[in-house]
Amino acid sequence: MSIEVNGTLVWFYNICKREVWLMSRNIVPDQHNENIEIGRFIHEYSYKRKEKEISFGNVKFDVMFKSKEKLVIGETKKSSKYKEASKWQLIFYLKVLKEAGINADGVLLYPEEKKREEVILNDENIKKLEEIIKDIKKICNKESPEPVKKIGFCKNCAYKEYCYA
Ligand code: SF4
Repeated sequence: MSIEVNGTLVWFYNICKREVWLMSRNIVPDQHNENIEIGRFIHEYSYKRKEKEISFGNVKFDVMFKSKEKLVIGETKKSSKYKEASKWQLIFYLKVLKEAGINADGVLLYPEEKKREEVILNDENIKKLEEIIKDIKKICNKESPEPVKKIGFCKNCAYKEYCYA
């Protein structure tokens, strides 16, 4: 099965590997789960966009700063709870931009917590991201998903009923 890894899968890879498999198989999550709808979660978990934004695919980022040499794209989040997932997702997009010939740095902003985290694309991150992408493909090509592992995210997950039926 050939799978095109996108930023959403990178995000979920850092939350739940079982979910990555379920998403790759287009298994439809619980439509009655009003909490979360796959694909919308990350969007709602972020703030509304500002006027200056950059978009690629269905993803949009705020442009924080732009000079001749560098673009800085920002993602403003409501909480740093899933900061590792957000970091790798942003690194994924920085790499997509780089492949399109745009050098950019990233920043994750958590205004309610008065925190910010710089995210850069360096050789180390690229290597780790490539491993993540390889592993995502490996997960998606398995016959069956990872077993259910109870994590805090399960209570908000659209697959909750599927996993705990
Ligand atoms: S309910 Fe929990 S185990 Fe199942 S896909 Fe969601 S996060 Fe993963």
